[in-house]
Amino acid sequence: MPNHIFGRSTKGALPTAVAGDGCYLIDASGKRYLDGSGGAAVSCLGHSNAAVRAALHAQLDQVAFAHTGFFTSEPAEQLADTLVAAAPEGIERVYLVSGGSEAVEASLKLARQYFLEIGQPQRHRVIARRQSYHGNTLGALATGGNEWRRAQFAPMLVETSHISPCYEYRERAEGESLEAYGLRAADELEAEIQRLGPESVMAFVAEPVVGATAGAVPAVPGYLKRIREICDRHGVLLILDEVMCGMGRTGYLFACQEDGVSPDMITIAKGLGAGYQPIGALLVQGKIYDAIAAGSGFFQHGHTYMGHAMAAAAANAVLGEIQSRDLLMRVRAQGEKLDAALRAELGQNPHVGDIRGRGLFRGVELVESRETKAPFDPARKLNARIKAEAFAAGLICYPMGGTIDGQRGDHVLLAPPFIIEDAQ
Ligand code: PLP
Repeated sequence: MPNHIFGRSTKGALPTAVAGDGCYLIDASGKRYLDGSGGAAVSCLGHSNAAVRAALHAQLDQVAFAHTGFFTSEPAEQLADTLVAAAPEGIERVYLVSGGSEAVEASLKLARQYFLEIGQPQRHRVIARRQSYHGNTLGALATGGNEWRRAQFAPMLVETSHISPCYEYRERAEGESLEAYGLRAADELEAEIQRLGPESVMAFVAEPVVGATAGAVPAVPGYLKRIREICDRHGVLLILDEVMCGMGRTGYLFACQEDGVSPDMITIAKGLGAGYQPIGALLVQGKIYDAIAAGSGFFQHGHTYMGHAMAAAAANAVLGEIQSRDLLMRVRAQGEKLDAALRAELGQNPHVGDIRGRGLFRGVELVESRETKAPFDPARKLNARIKAEAFAAGLICYPMGGTIDGQRGDHVLLAPPFIIEDAQ
C-alpha cells in the first residue's frame, strides 16, 4: 500500500501509536514510551483515563454535534460555567474553539471588534514578545516572536511589535534583584506603547510561563502585575496565552493565578482536552462580552466545530478529574520532586545553563559554555539529536532550539502527565 498521509515532516517514517497506558504510549511493535512531555504539554491525565473515556461514550450516545448557529449543548454550557467559576476575577464568558491557534486568533479579532464597538476604531496594533509562540494560523503566527516559525511567511504577517521576554537567566543584569529586573523588563511595554502611540494599541499578548519557544520560562515576581498596570494606564487589553501553561500544568488551574493577575482575556487548549478531544477556549472579561451585547450583538468570527459537544464533554471530564483527584496539589508536589531530581542529576553538568519552571512544567537550557552562556552551534542540531536519542530509549521529551535575539539556543521541555509516579 502506498502511504498517502501528509505528516509534519516528509522525512522518515514514524512508529504507529496503537495504545495508551497511563503515562505510556505503546507502538505497533509493543515498545513502550514514557510520555515525559505529554506530547507537547497535552496529555495531562495520561493516555487511558477511564472517566474521560466513559464521558465520551455517554455523550456519543446522546448527541455528538449540533451546529452552534442553531443550538447550544449541555456539555458546552457546563464547561463554560466550570471555567468561569475557577477563572481569575472578572472573567465571565467562554468562547469554545478547537485548539490553541484558534483561541489566539479569536482573541485578536475579539479585541479588535471590542474597540470598534466602544468607539475606538483607531486601536489595532498588537504588542507581543520576542521569545514566544502563539500558534500557526496567520494572526497567531504574526503575534508570536519565534523567527524560525515565522521567517518564510513573513510577507504574509501583519506587522507586530515584539519586546523583550521576561527571561531571567539571559536578561537579568549582574547584581540586579529579581524584582528590579521584572520591573525593567515590563517597562519595555510602556516604552513600546509610547513609541507606537497609546491610542493605536489594542492588546499585549504574552505567555505567563513561556513554553515551546524558551522551555518553561516563568515571569519573575512582579512582572505581570506591572504589565497589568501599564495596560490599564493606556486602555490596552491584556491577553494571556495559557494554551501550554494553563489547565493545571503549573500547579494552578490558570498560571496567572500564581502571579495574582487578572487578564482581559485568557486562551487555553492542550490540557483542556488532555488529548482526548481537540478543544480550546477563549475566556473573556464581562466588559468585553457586554460591549458586543450592547452593540452589534454578534462576534464576527466562528468556526464550524466551535462548542463541539463531544469535545466539551471530554473537557468537563478532564476538569472533573483534576478537581476530584486533587491533581493541582499533586502537580505542585511532583513538580518539586522533578525539579530537585533535575538539579541533582544535571545541576553540575557543564552544558546545563539553567533549570527552571513551575509545577510539572520544567525546562533545561543547554549551553556550550556555562560561563558565557553561549548556545551551541545550531548546525549541530542538538535538539533533534536529543529528541531522537531519547525516543529510541523510550522517552518522549520536547527539545527545541529557541531563538535568543537572533542566536539559537537549545532547551528541553518536560511536561509529564499529572499522574506521573516518583519512579517514572
Ligand atoms: N499558544 C501557545 C502558548 C502554544 O504553546 C501553542 C502550541 O504549542 C499554541 C498557542 C497553538 O496551539 P495549537 O497547536 O493547539 O493550535
